[in-house]
Amino acid sequence: MLEKVEEFNMEKVIDEFEALTKDAERVQRETLRKILEDNASAEYLQNLGLNGRTDPESFKAHVPLVTHKELEPYIVRIIEGDASSILTGKPITTMSLSSGTTQGKPKYVPWNDELFETTMQIYQTSFAFRNREFPVKNGKALSFIYSSKQFKTKGGLAAGTATTNVFRNAQYKCAMKALQSPCCSPDEVIFGPDFHQSLYCHLLCGLIFREEVQLVSSTFAHSIVHAFRTFEQVWQELCTDIREGVLTSRITVPSIRMAMSKLLKPNPELANLIEKKCMGLSNWYGLIPELFPNAKYVYGIMTGSMEPYLKKLRHYAGELLLLTADYGSSEGWIAANVNPKLPPELATYAVLPHIGYFEFIPITELEQTKFLCVDPQPVGLTEVKVGEEYEIVITNPAGLYRYRLGDVVKVMGFHNSTPELKFVRRSSLLLTINIDKNTEKDLQIAVEAAAKLVAGDKLEVIDYTSHVDVSSEPGHYVIFWEINGEASDELLSECCNCLDKSFVDAGYTSSRKTNCIGPLELRVVRKGTFQKILDHFLGLGAAVSQYKTPRCVGPTHGKVLQILSENVVKSYLSTTFN
Ligand code: AMP
Repeated sequence: MLEKVEEFNMEKVIDEFEALTKDAERVQRETLRKILEDNASAEYLQNLGLNGRTDPESFKAHVPLVTHKELEPYIVRIIEGDASSILTGKPITTMSLSSGTTQGKPKYVPWNDELFETTMQIYQTSFAFRNREFPVKNGKALSFIYSSKQFKTKGGLAAGTATTNVFRNAQYKCAMKALQSPCCSPDEVIFGPDFHQSLYCHLLCGLIFREEVQLVSSTFAHSIVHAFRTFEQVWQELCTDIREGVLTSRITVPSIRMAMSKLLKPNPELANLIEKKCMGLSNWYGLIPELFPNAKYVYGIMTGSMEPYLKKLRHYAGELLLLTADYGSSEGWIAANVNPKLPPELATYAVLPHIGYFEFIPITELEQTKFLCVDPQPVGLTEVKVGEEYEIVITNPAGLYRYRLGDVVKVMGFHNSTPELKFVRRSSLLLTINIDKNTEKDLQIAVEAAAKLVAGDKLEVIDYTSHVDVSSEPGHYVIFWEINGEASDELLSECCNCLDKSFVDAGYTSSRKTNCIGPLELRVVRKGTFQKILDHFLGLGAAVSQYKTPRCVGPTHGKVLQILSENVVKSYLSTTFN
């Protein structure tokens, strides 16, 4: 059957966005009204005594701020098959699994068609702005996208990661065609049961369609870096497959073999060309444009916890542009990148006022109210102030009301009357023993400073995480590093000292000086350790598409800590404050 691909009207999408953002306050009121009306019969809302009121003031007065923990009893009932109107008017039939790398295990959040629609609205908005600046021709996207395992919950609901729910939606393919970015790999590869085999075949499809590839993408930038690190290992095997037109025996999934056999024909010329290109590169610099000469840019989320991969991504991308994708979560999309000319380090995301109702808790107030044990008072979308940091609160069309997402953003400016946000960090503190407070951003800064020392020896930190070790007195910070080669003990001791020095939080430095916190410990792990951690999360139902390395391994991450501990090859203690 022929699929109907709707023509994409760039100007119309941009005009609509301009109109909506000029009137963001009214659009927010309308969006809230619609969400509350559609779900008025939901037990959760009924119990809160809104009595049909849909204005923001009544909503704030009656509906409490919640986290996932408070909603869990309701979500559990849904998962177990209670089909009454619990959180939404129409019963929920599908669940998303968030990546859950912060808490150690994936969380269930409700998914419905409205969330799919908002996903498409975000995709279309950012594509319109992106394509105005950097047009892609009709071609293909080499998209490193993967489905998680889809399964049924105890009560018979379909469950998978949010990205999987998007990829599986019947309208997804059509929508991506309209955005001129259909994936060059067949569905069997995207939905394959084995991530390693899917990745290999994505690379192979990219090479087969190399002239047509207009962009290289993934949901999160980590997957792109991971893919090209893998390419470094398997490029000769890929060339052999192309030369002979026969898929390597390492691909064992029958459906993938069948689908790939339709694409793979003996092509010695292409194999020779790729081989020559690979051998001509210096340390793989500029690999992506070399392989895909018509690619216009590399696209994926590159901010927040993806920043540590930017350096490597730039290396592979050479002169090719890096464009960060949009801002959202399994709980719902929030904002689109409508300023694609900005490099990822300066990227902002403009909130779409019609895809959810958004509130913002000022971080300063959050700190004050914590001690007073009162609820913080969030402000509305159009009331935020430039330069201030906020924690985001989401109300979405899939049964989340005043839900604290746990992300901290900074308002950088306004697009008409909607704020442009910079992602700052997850709100939870990462490293704290007593009066010290260090976030994932502080850890990133420290790791970047210390990684510069090994960069001199042409080494790189492939990935990292941290842990608070209080098993002996005084407690101390532990940083785990995986590096791509051998570094001398002297150099690594220096890195360890540098890490310790780079946590400049006054609570930390004063505690270190008085030995209330012990010397920081750098533990170097075997190559491949972070791959094992990724595999562990995949086993729990996570998808590579949404994967984020946990930046702190706490008590809820028992297995991850075990993997790390079993793979430590060297460890160093800081002498910075001796
Ligand atoms: P998940 O839990 O898998 O649904 O991932 C959602 C989380 O990923 C968000 O709450 C953010 O912490 C992070 N995230 C999503 N988009 C971005 C972005 N554009 N920049 C930085 N972090 C992001």
